[in-house]
Amino acid sequence: SHYFDANATTPLCPEARAAWLEATDQHWHNPSSPSRASARVHVLLENARAELAALFGATAESVVFNSGATEGNRDVLAYWRRISPESRVIVSAIEHPSVLENARANCVGGQLVILPVEKSGCVSMKSLVELLEKRGGGLVSLMAANNETGVIQPWQEAIEVCRQYRATLHIDATQWVGKEALEGLASADFVTACGHKFGGPKGTGFLLVSSGLSGFCGQRGGAQENDHRAGTENYPSIASMVAALQASEAQRVGVQADNGDARDRFEALLSKAISDLKIWGAGEARLSNTSSLCLPVGENTRWVRRLDQRGFLVSTGSACATGKDGPSHVLAAMGVTAEEARRTIRISALPSTNWEAWNSLAAALVELLPGMDGGDGNPLVIKL
Ligand code: PLP
Repeated sequence: SHYFDANATTPLCPEARAAWLEATDQHWHNPSSPSRASARVHVLLENARAELAALFGATAESVVFNSGATEGNRDVLAYWRRISPESRVIVSAIEHPSVLENARANCVGGQLVILPVEKSGCVSMKSLVELLEKRGGGLVSLMAANNETGVIQPWQEAIEVCRQYRATLHIDATQWVGKEALEGLASADFVTACGHKFGGPKGTGFLLVSSGLSGFCGQRGGAQENDHRAGTENYPSIASMVAALQASEAQRVGVQADNGDARDRFEALLSKAISDLKIWGAGEARLSNTSSLCLPVGENTRWVRRLDQRGFLVSTGSACATGKDGPSHVLAAMGVTAEEARRTIRISALPSTNWEAWNSLAAALVELLPGMDGGDGNPLVIKL
């Protein structure tokens, strides 16, 4: 089958698998124990930290390994509330629920400000500047690229603006890392990401915390992670994640070009074949692997089932929204109607996805289209 749901998760890449197996078999000791074997794991862990930091041009001290982006996002918002109880928190309307829900949980009354996005899916920098001009300061949380539309957000500009107005900036770079250049990201005060979006293991991520925020603590207990996050370090998964990021960095430029070409050809082909097709964020710079398509007929859940039966794994939007009522908050913030959002599917390719796969997905979409109007006469029964 053809996997087109890479923004939800990716399989382990060979480099990550080899690193995990080696660490699990040979370097499984607790890095904080007094034995020589443990001391070796401690050294390996610190090497992994330095290697990850080097990819970002950051210091090793700024890297806090954790369980993933949800934890990182939650901890940044909780930490901010602790050190600055009265200040404002500004988040965009299209953030991941792990930012939005934790921002809501940590703010009362008018403390939380939700930034609007343009129709294109890009956060309004004009609104951010106006807000900061009027009242300055606070925490700004902005994603580097959106998980549903792939639209790249103006985070470089946000770094400048936040510096100018003395606001603290958190960038949720979960969809960016492994797909786009890492340069410049570490200039933000906080950066979150996780391994499983770029060929690393699930349940493993990291947070970059700038040096001015040394009191950061995500989880109390032991002194691991320089007192920033207690709990025995998961060295095998950390080694695996770092190997995955090194591998994706080594091939990133070529992958970006190939994925982008194939995605653009796919969209051009479909736009010709299907009248009234809409592509969200099409006019904007997007992640080269992502396409958010609004089809003229058919509920997205049905499209997903039909395509799955034909061997194409796509998504209705974000995996985290599955099971929640209502259409995507991302599309709603862009002014997309609920009805259009229900006809929208998200396609997100792996680095290894080739043109043949995109082309056959386009053919399947065109073939299925005539049968998509009306009720679903043949529901898929999943046998366990
Ligand atoms: N932030 C963004 C933008 C995401 O796309 C995701 C995952 O879909 C997350 C955060 C959460 O990542 P995890 O589920 O690994 O904690």
